[in-house]
Amino acid sequence: MKKKVAKYLACPSCKSELALEKSKSWKQDVRTGKLVCLNCNLVYPIISGRPILLTSSAVNEWKSPVSEVLGIAQYETYEDSIKSLNKIGIENAIKIAHNIQSQKPKTTESIETIPSKICGKIKYRESGDWFKCGNRTERLLAFPWESGNQNCSFLAFMEEIQKTQPEILLDIASGGGFGVSQQVYLSKSVKQTIAIERDLKCLGNIQYRFKHIHKENNSEAVAGDVRQLPVLSNTIDTTMMLMGLPEISGITAVLKEVYRVLKPSGNYVMLIPESAYESKEINKDDFIRFTKEVDLFAGHEKFLSDAEKTGFEINVAKQFKEKNGKCRLLISLSKK
Ligand SMILES: [Zn+2]
Repeated sequence: MKKKVAKYLACPSCKSELALEKSKSWKQDVRTGKLVCLNCNLVYPIISGRPILLTSSAVNEWKSPVSEVLGIAQYETYEDSIKSLNKIGIENAIKIAHNIQSQKPKTTESIETIPSKICGKIKYRESGDWFKCGNRTERLLAFPWESGNQNCSFLAFMEEIQKTQPEILLDIASGGGFGVSQQVYLSKSVKQTIAIERDLKCLGNIQYRFKHIHKENNSEAVAGDVRQLPVLSNTIDTTMMLMGLPEISGITAVLKEVYRVLKPSGNYVMLIPESAYESKEINKDDFIRFTKEVDLFAGHEKFLSDAEKTGFEINVAKQFKEKNGKCRLLISLSKK
């Protein structure tokens, strides 16, 4: 982590500024240390160069959002979590989810330490060795527009972000960092990029991608929860998100947080699926009712209506038909 990124980062709990303490650097890169909230004194560790701006209640590995709202502890694929939902029954599941949501812990604690196994994974992936295994370099570090497919939604997404000419770019729910690294590679305007992901091992993948395109000096992978963004208010020009919405529980919280961190007239550009997750396991209307009740992605209409309620203006909502017959929407919102 470069010291200069700290001026954009905030305590995810109270949104105040952070001070860097007990840091050890190597070649101007802070490798270990602590970020301490100047207001509430919560402490956040820097592990293998990555700021871990998560509180102890946040989940730090991928979880199906359906499992998450139902409080299911063990790992389930998305499809398995739909099966669990089916077994529980929609009415019962809504009650369980509302009950859990109303019991959110009132006190917030720091994550003081991260298991060494996870630190090892971050380091290994950031070193680039992970990418050298199998044919990952070919598969994961490729550039889709070089294939000549000019009509793809991804390319339109990249262009829409560039149109906003951001200097300070925030990518949320970054996953392995594919979208954000492509944008950073293309952009001529970006001076600082922050990529937020809560699955800690992915931070290594994202940072390696930045290194791979020689942009590691102004691009940082940061551990954070998109419903409690670890970013100061009114600091971001453009927020981008590539197909992250169906992975998130708490869609309205994400909208409020993105609105908060954007500068006035700032943009929120994203690719989203047109419809909510579909499965043979469950009745479509029942699933939509469930997602609406518990604040999961319920399709683009509900999302756009929530965005307007948050205060966003809708500038672009363009449909793309994918090869698999499903549709994606390119959406660009701006903060009024
Ligand atoms: Zn704080």
